[in-house]
Amino acid sequence: MAQGAAAERGVSELLGRQDLHVHTDMSDGDLTLQQVVEKAAERGVTVGIADHVSMRNADQFIASEAELRRYLTALESAPVFRSGEFCWCDVLVHGLPDELLACFDYRVGSNHGFALPDGTMASPWWRTLPAPWDQQPEAVMEHLVDNLCDLVRTMPVQIVAHSTLLPPALLELESDVHAWWTAEREDRYVEALAGSGVALEISNRYRLPHDRLLCKAKQAGARFSLGSDGHTAEQVARLDWATDAARRAGVTDADLFVPARTLRAA
Ligand SMILES: [Zn+2]
Ligand SMILES: [Zn+2]
Repeated sequence: MAQGAAAERGVSELLGRQDLHVHTDMSDGDLTLQQVVEKAAERGVTVGIADHVSMRNADQFIASEAELRRYLTALESAPVFRSGEFCWCDVLVHGLPDELLACFDYRVGSNHGFALPDGTMASPWWRTLPAPWDQQPEAVMEHLVDNLCDLVRTMPVQIVAHSTLLPPALLELESDVHAWWTAEREDRYVEALAGSGVALEISNRYRLPHDRLLCKAKQAGARFSLGSDGHTAEQVARLDWATDAARRAGVTDADLFVPARTLRAA
């Protein structure tokens, strides 16, 4: 196909033109599906809709099998890839029948919370560390990395979103990202990623991951996916930062996760 020939010539047709992480008002996005389709067309970007499928916020998210069936049916009417953003800290994805999982073009997994050994759940958005973890910030980081490795090895997903996000509480103690993402932790996560085949999202919204980890992932042969994580008209189908970061790491079209289905034009 043209895409293959272009890739051989080193021309990028996909990088920056495929946004596989977009939200609509079917979960917590501002825009309707139709508005997302219009914005994406305006910006010349193919999109995958990955609304939240999780029981963690039943009011706003797609939180049951029946709601998920309605959501997937709605997506069928639009020229978009069918996806969903599942929480690592939620069991919903594990209880779904195979025929329903097969209706997705791909699935996204996100570490919106991670398990600690005392049975509590930590958040990548923690502004302060609760006791006893306030005395053990390094242990919190170790558990975060362990959770990410387990996520890519065991979750039935093709992309891991905004995965290297650090709790603000840690960055408050030490603002250098490399103090938390040490070389050893990066290597551990990159090995899990490359071994799993799950694509590492380059997040335009969170401006993640940092360059050193991205370069290591590229060298290890990992797959990548660019995502706006867009919830607003401003954010949807915008991949400027993510495209620059991908280029800095030497990521090309050949390294990107591409859904198997070809979309028909709107
Ligand atoms: Zn998310
Ligand atoms: Zn998201």
